[in-house]
Amino acid sequence: MRLLEERIRKDGLVKEGNVLKVDSFLNHQMDIALFNEMGKEWKRLFADAGVTKILTIEASGIGIAAVAAQYFDVPVVFAKKSQSINLDGSVYSTKIQSFTHQRVYDVIVSRKYLSPEDRVLIIDDFLANGNAINGLMEIIREAGAETVGVGIAIEKGFQEGGKLLREQGIRVESLAIIEEMDAKNGTIRFR
Ligand code: 5GP
Repeated sequence: MRLLEERIRKDGLVKEGNVLKVDSFLNHQMDIALFNEMGKEWKRLFADAGVTKILTIEASGIGIAAVAAQYFDVPVVFAKKSQSINLDGSVYSTKIQSFTHQRVYDVIVSRKYLSPEDRVLIIDDFLANGNAINGLMEIIREAGAETVGVGIAIEKGFQEGGKLLREQGIRVESLAIIEEMDAKNGTIRFR
């Protein structure tokens, strides 16, 4: 998506450790006009998928998922990073290794908000190694629901997450795919 690529080129900051900072328009301050265009694009790409629910993960996925949901006219559920292990069986849970914080989170979704009839579109801000998406797919499987697609804002194509998901036959639509980025001179090349 040209608009997003242009914005990443203009305002994205390439950091050491393969991290792209997009705090000025996506991860901290949020450009809602841009989010609307992203939401419309995901709707166009997944128009035939019969989406009944959007699933994302806190915190950075919530804004983009909420704006996108208006075009699908479905609820958004966000997986919560939980401190305490749930013992009463009222939640689906999994563990997700965080790329940016280098730690493992317990992640939960209440059983009330995902059911076997659901056709779920996962939306998230970044796809790197695929741990976040795999964790969300695990929760969807646990619910007996179906993952009908994955909508990503920025995929780092030089990391393996996108390739592994597509090899499994998962429909992944990334609005910008970075092929290469260089922290020393700040350059970014898109696929
Ligand atoms: P994965 O689980 O695919 O390895 O990483 C995806 C998650 O890590 C996303 O939810 C995102 O929050 C975070 N992440 C991964 N790479 C980056 C990055 O380059 N920049 C930022 N801001 N977040 C990232």
